Amino acid sequence: MPVNSLKKTSLFSVMVLILTGCSQAETNTASDPAASPALNAKTIHENTLVLDSHIDLELGLIADDMDPWSSGKTLTDLEKMKAGGMDGAFLIVFSPQGDDTSEGIAKAADIAETRYNAIKRLTEKHADKIELALSADDTRRIHKTGKRIALIGLENAYPLGNSVDDVSMWFKRGVRYIGITHVGHNQFGDSSNPSYKKGETLSLHGGLSPLGKDLIATMNAVGLIVDVSHASKSTMMQAITLSKTPVIASHSGARAVSDNVRNLDDEQLRALAKTGGVIQIVAYGPYLKDLTPAQQAFKDKVRKEMGLEDDMAFLSMDAKTEDLYDFKMKDVSKLSPPANISDLVDHIDHVVKTVGVDYVGISSDFDGGGKIPGWMDASETMNVTEELVKRGYSQEDIDKIWGGNLLRVLETVQEYAHE
Ligand SMILES: [Zn+2]
Repeated sequence: MPVNSLKKTSLFSVMVLILTGCSQAETNTASDPAASPALNAKTIHENTLVLDSHIDLELGLIADDMDPWSSGKTLTDLEKMKAGGMDGAFLIVFSPQGDDTSEGIAKAADIAETRYNAIKRLTEKHADKIELALSADDTRRIHKTGKRIALIGLENAYPLGNSVDDVSMWFKRGVRYIGITHVGHNQFGDSSNPSYKKGETLSLHGGLSPLGKDLIATMNAVGLIVDVSHASKSTMMQAITLSKTPVIASHSGARAVSDNVRNLDDEQLRALAKTGGVIQIVAYGPYLKDLTPAQQAFKDKVRKEMGLEDDMAFLSMDAKTEDLYDFKMKDVSKLSPPANISDLVDHIDHVVKTVGVDYVGISSDFDGGGKIPGWMDASETMNVTEELVKRGYSQEDIDKIWGGNLLRVLETVQEYAHE
């Protein structure tokens, strides 16, 4: 799940965008573009195992014994996946960050339980259409049957409490990656987005806490992928140093293309690639595209009007002030078109140019905030492949980007645990 990141954009980042944002398309021109790129993309898409690394489940739609995708309101469901040629996805057991108290942790554990049970119901109720995959081989086997593939990721380690005892329980249930943090620092490490409202500063632990270091070692031993999306740069770099296996960012962008604290800078991309890991570029507009100078000027004006020119006052505003701010900012999107598939693929191009095609993938973040014009729900997934084909990516590249790289990581992580 993303946070309102519109607030974290600086003028500098706008300049970075201007300097780098327009040159991506020319750098990847196809040497042999097909006569009909759309037809070619369709064939390539059908030949590819298309795996999305981050799809959320809305809590309001999974109460009691509801099938999470039966409401017709979700951006992902079995029909939409089939229509869009999306073969599988990591479905996310997400808990928002609360206080480090037994009550807070118990509440988060309840939420995690609700989401996990909804995934279980989905795969049980529609066993003929979707199946839970526990490994890379499993994923490929299910793909051959024509069924959709469900994998599970845990977003935010907070509900684990103040120990790592539950890690193997979650592994047994099918979870294959755990994101260390969400918004706000937790007992395992520092977040990329401190909860300034709660009085947090940039860092609580200086990266990973001692418990966070235990978590990495335990995940390695059990066979779980370490996910650094939402983690601060120091948490992320320490996790990479400590982890014996490749690390992923399950839903982030490239900071050189869009300067947001949720994105990875080039130093982080290089460190990630060195582990053999992968960054899954997320279809969440504010992480993909910086504000234009006109939008930045609009934002500056609103901040000034509201007496929020000081960064700390801005970042720690209370809920009522934030509502007013959001109201005043609602027209900012009219000043420039929102990020689209071309922006998403600009991030992919940047990762490819910086570290290579073996270290990048794609995540929609559907039903958790993600959607961009052209890829508004799972039924439009082929449009992403079409843009990749237009930029000159081959079938082999697209196989890697749409899941091959991520499955390689899963395989490596599980092999390490076996040995
Ligand atoms: Zn998230």
